Amino acid sequence: ENELSIPLPDEAATERLGARLGALLQPGDFVSLSGDLGAGKTALARAAVRARLGDWQEEVPSPTFTLVQTYEAPDLLITHVDLYRLDRPEDAAELGLGDALDEGALLVEWPDRLGRLPQDRLDISIRLVGEGGAREAHLTGHGQWAARLRELHDP
Ligand code: ADP
Ligand code: MG
Repeated sequence: ENELSIPLPDEAATERLGARLGALLQPGDFVSLSGDLGAGKTALARAAVRARLGDWQEEVPSPTFTLVQTYEAPDLLITHVDLYRLDRPEDAAELGLGDALDEGALLVEWPDRLGRLPQDRLDISIRLVGEGGAREAHLTGHGQWAARLRELHDP
């Protein structure tokens, strides 16, 4: 099974999933983050980055305006990308995401703006469920990520 659903009843649950993801990341990892505006893609990515940077790191800015934000964790380079404001798909080539993936892990919001995605990748889709603001994450592991999915299970 290369799919996994994880309930995210509150923001803390989103942060715990992000922390588990952050702990798992390796160079060459491509993670796509899908879902409506406000679903929690950035919250998840920030939690992953924070888990890897260590507690001393207070501020993890959002890449909404810069498109690309790079974080140097002690043992991993993490590049967080938000392509919502990428107007033309051609412009994606200038972002240097191929190099970022060679050197570290890539977390990409609005991955559909890229066109082609790597075959080895983790797709995370977040959607709202019910009335109270709860979310659910749906994870799909492609290629080598299929076997790594279960490590993201709620403990
Ligand atoms: P996106 O990047 O998908 O547009 P953001 O992460 O910027 O969304 O914003 C999501 C908002 O929802 C944040 O205010 C965050 O605190 C909140 N949030 C995240 N996960 C949950 C959750 N599981 N339940 C309720 N609120 C959440
Ligand atoms: Mg966002």
